[in-house]
Amino acid sequence: MDASEFRRLGHELIDWIAAYRERLETLPVMSQVKPGEVAARFPAAPPQAGGGAAAALAALDRDLLDGITHWTHPSFFAYFPSNASYGSILGDLACAGLGAQGMSWQTSPAATELEQVVMGWLRQLVGLPDAFTGVVQDSASSSTLVALLCARERASGFAQVRGGLQGEAAPLTVYASDQAHSSVDKAALLAGYGKANLRHLATDDAHALRVDLLEAAIAEDRAAGRRPCAVVATVGTTGTTAVDPIAAVAEVARRHGLWLHVDAALAGTAMALPECRVHWAGIEGADSLVFNPHKWMGIGFDFSAYFVRDPQHLVRVMGTDPSYLRTAQDGQVANLRDWGIPLGRRFRALKGYVHLVDEGVAGLQARLRRDLEHARWLAAQVDATPGWERLAPVPFQTVVLRHVKEGLDEAALAAHNLAIAAAVNGSGKAYLTPSVLKGRQTLRVSCGSATTERRHVEAVWAALRRAATAA
Ligand SMILES: *Cc1c(COP(=O)(O)O)cnc(C)c1O
Repeated sequence: MDASEFRRLGHELIDWIAAYRERLETLPVMSQVKPGEVAARFPAAPPQAGGGAAAALAALDRDLLDGITHWTHPSFFAYFPSNASYGSILGDLACAGLGAQGMSWQTSPAATELEQVVMGWLRQLVGLPDAFTGVVQDSASSSTLVALLCARERASGFAQVRGGLQGEAAPLTVYASDQAHSSVDKAALLAGYGKANLRHLATDDAHALRVDLLEAAIAEDRAAGRRPCAVVATVGTTGTTAVDPIAAVAEVARRHGLWLHVDAALAGTAMALPECRVHWAGIEGADSLVFNPHKWMGIGFDFSAYFVRDPQHLVRVMGTDPSYLRTAQDGQVANLRDWGIPLGRRFRALKGYVHLVDEGVAGLQARLRRDLEHARWLAAQVDATPGWERLAPVPFQTVVLRHVKEGLDEAALAAHNLAIAAAVNGSGKAYLTPSVLKGRQTLRVSCGSATTERRHVEAVWAALRRAATAA
């Protein structure tokens, strides 16, 4: 491909993306293809002759679009909001166009420095104290893994440069609520703590971590000769957006010398609203925290914001210093390869930068308030409608509900609600996530797609009621 073909195809592709976004509402939200259907449309081997880029892009409409679940659809109420604003798309395109590696400051100073600027903006946006320093990671999963690695090394006095965890006399333990995200389990396992040393604590009626149980578990582990090491608290759990009591957990962590990592992957974005920051109270006591601007904030995946109080400790744990990566500026600059797991780093700050400048703080806040209002409206409908039950408070944009049909036991209720979800999702008109909460089958309606208006929330509620009558 030469520059003139790139220009031509590139303009066409931008037009295609804009037209796709404009007609999104007419497409079925959840892809209805069968397993293997998409792969069967493609040749089994790569072409011998090149020059087929235009034909490859034509596959978007012909072979791929019906295999896409439309996350930016206005009636996308599944999982969590994951928007990619036009501004963020353009920033990402610029990143791809530059093709730069930001592993060291010297390998593209602008990539490192704009990342530091954008992370400083994000820190202020969500009301975090100046004591935190941020870095972009690919995902909350990676961020939480890095946090538990840092916790492990702090508690063990850098066991990694000796015998690692295998050389330790006593096992290190990790605490989280039974509502913590599966990435916490994964991080604890990958960081070598072992499943036997990960405690899932029962939660209260609002599905938040119980500090009394945390205290008791720490005491029990101490008494058994184990070493309490880290606690992961969640602001906005995946099941119900429950909020663990950060200030109280931080106090326990401080008293027992535990690392406190806060997982606010979804709900951290809400802290751009001063009225939501009550859910953040005590956050200054965290050692690390993560939130995902690639969820509700509107920056395209992947952009996870990881903040730490002690960047020197982070670099000591994650840093490597082989001779071929050394540069003359090493003492004066940040080499962000030492702030996470991969060596290579894309210029992800660009999409965050363009997005934030395009939205502005006021624009972002207005959209978040709209989404909170949508969730409150739906919660009020559920509360006011006989036969429907809401299973959790609604601090943010997710409403967890179910239909309770007379005379059905738990198993039959589960089947009934799964049938409702299947009917709504199969219609292509809206998409939501069935999920199990403490043994009860629920339907999660997560608001916050960038284009969702009140009429879309009204429509999904009507679709749920119709499906409940038919099921
Ligand atoms: C989405 C989510 C995660 C996982 O985020 P990734 O960036 O996909 O790894 C972790 N924790 C919570 C609370 C989440 O909502």
